[in-house]
Order: sequence, then structure tokens, then C-alpha cells
Amino acid sequence: MNKPTRPYMKADKLGTAYDCPRGWYPLVQTFCEKVDSMMKEDNDTLSFSPWNDFEVTRVKQKWFRLRIYASGVPERREDEYHGLLSHLHDMSARTCANCGAENEKPAKANRVCYCSEECHTEELDSRFPRRKSKKI
Ligand SMILES: [Zn+2]
Repeated sequence: MNKPTRPYMKADKLGTAYDCPRGWYPLVQTFCEKVDSMMKEDNDTLSFSPWNDFEVTRVKQKWFRLRIYASGVPERREDEYHGLLSHLHDMSARTCANCGAENEKPAKANRVCYCSEECHTEELDSRFPRRKSKKI
């Protein structure tokens, strides 16, 4: 899966601000779809667009969990929006950041991958390409 992008994904244009492991792209996709539907619903039912100032400024892995930072979330949607974020945060604790496999148990401490040792190594290599040359 490619990195999900949207016009409100300012992070996408800032390069390093969108630093999300590929195994979590489906979680970001879910985020975008939910936001899209809240936007559409509001734009269809209200006489103004409360999402005009909405932008996602960072998408990243922090403390081994998915974090999405944004500004301009409409007040009327705050609870729903934060519920969505906390759900995705919890999901990322059980989703391998490398291959996207879902696990019942959260990862061991200091890891974002929950599969085999090979998968963990692959995840590290994709995030820190320089590690590869050290192995030679
Ligand atoms: Zn994996």
C-alpha cells in the first residue's frame, strides 16, 4: 500500500513530517477515510465549512505508537476525532509496523514489530538504511 495522501495532509509536503512505518499505512488510510466522511457530512448539512482550517501537520511513530498531529479540528467533532485517534493509537500497538500483521498482544517494549526476528530486522533496515552497510 502507498502512503495515503490528502489535500489536508500538510505533513506530506514537509517531507520528514510524514514519517510513518509502512505497516501502519492502512491505519492512516482509516484515519483519512473517517475524516473524509466527517467532512463530507458537515459540508453537506451545514451552511458553512468547519473543516476549512483543518490540516495534518505530522504523522509519525512516537514511543512505538502511531501519532497523528493536526490543527483546526472543528469543535463539534472534537470528541469523535479524539476517539478515532485513540483507537488508531491502540491499534498501532498491535499492528506490526513493518508488514502490517495484527497481533493479539501488544509488542515487547521498544519494538514496533511483533512478528519474527527477520521482520523486526527488516523494519529497522527500512527506517535506518545506514544499518545495512554495517552488516558487511
Ligand atoms: Zn511483521
